[in-house]
Amino acid sequence: MANIDGITTDAPKGGVRYGTININDDANYEVKLKPLYTGLCGTDRAEVSGSLSFTYNPENYNYMVLGHESVCEVIDAKENEFEIKTGDYVVPIVRRPGKCVNCRIGRQDNCSDGDHDIHEAGIRGIHGFNREYFFDYAKNLVKINDKGMILTAAMTEPTKNVMKAFEVFDTVSKRTIFENDDSTYLEKNCVIIGTGSEAFLYAFMAREYRMNVYLVNRHDINDYKKNILDKINANFYDYTKEDKIKKIDLLIDTSGDPGTIIRFIGKLNYNGVLILFGTNGKAPASALSGEDIDYIIERNITLAGSVDGAKIHYLRAVEYLEKWNYSEGSIIKNLVTGTYKPDDTSIFLKKPQEEIKSLIKWF
Ligand code: NAP
Ligand code: ZN
Repeated sequence: MANIDGITTDAPKGGVRYGTININDDANYEVKLKPLYTGLCGTDRAEVSGSLSFTYNPENYNYMVLGHESVCEVIDAKENEFEIKTGDYVVPIVRRPGKCVNCRIGRQDNCSDGDHDIHEAGIRGIHGFNREYFFDYAKNLVKINDKGMILTAAMTEPTKNVMKAFEVFDTVSKRTIFENDDSTYLEKNCVIIGTGSEAFLYAFMAREYRMNVYLVNRHDINDYKKNILDKINANFYDYTKEDKIKKIDLLIDTSGDPGTIIRFIGKLNYNGVLILFGTNGKAPASALSGEDIDYIIERNITLAGSVDGAKIHYLRAVEYLEKWNYSEGSIIKNLVTGTYKPDDTSIFLKKPQEEIKSLIKWF
């Protein structure tokens, strides 16, 4: 394979570099891909700062190409059963299957073998998508049929997490009757802790359920973010100043902060559901009291973790993103708060203050 340019880190040590790489991954490839946009999130920045404990370089490399969020153009395709063709726009799946029973049925998001069997492009053991081109198998790609939604499609990977988490919610909420007696979720309160990109994507989806949606943080947010929430009929409040919601039916955490999560568990309604999604290994410990445990038990509250998503969730993400892309005002596009050049690696070092989603443009 020829020398090309890409953005790399040395995992788990960290650091970030844009420069020449030489990766031998073209043997037996089906599809050659050129990234159009790649996205970055806290995971990329944790890798670069050396604080992501479970990241590691691919075998025989002393670096890893960064990047797990992307939308790519197929620049060459061999004939394949998935009908991926040259010129198509696609999103590559991040997590690749191991050997366990869940992985063997395409549910590597629910891998039961744990750390030693999880491989994720740009995160653990497989090169990511921040490079001029790369090779893959057609089965790992999800097609974007509408080329007009390319910027929105760049958010497919973070959106698939939301689709999986709502599937978890649908499943666990079935152990009692969660819906109203008219079969709807109208007037159910969904509180989402955090105001980052995932929290906004959760807000879009919770509005699809027609729940009342509240994003919360421990500080105010800017008018730009408030305006997006206004436009989708969602709300925000700073929980250190106000206590707008007394009873929560669905609580989604994107902060990973135990103290904040416990504070909100005490507001969960009978048969309420808490989805744990945010991770922050450095957050201070905070213990559940005996009273908290009683509260959870007496109300049949469900606490469920949700990680990653399967191909089905990528497909669902594309469907919803397409719908939101063409909804009035195309508000979803406002989640992209900046596009950067590949050689501007400073974006990996510091999160811009007003960032919701930053993208790197490769064309
Ligand atoms: P992000 O932009 O860093 O979002 C985290 C949000 O939580 C920020 O808005 C942050 O507020 C807020 N927060 C932190 N501490 C808080 C507290 N004590 N009270 C209220 N809000 C608090 O990251 P993201 O990309 O949206 O991702 C969200 C989280 O999900 C991250 O932890 C990420 O690692 C995790 N994640 C999980 C999965 C999964 O599969 N489970 C997949 C992707 C990402 P500030 O802006 O003030 O810091
Ligand atoms: Zn597995």
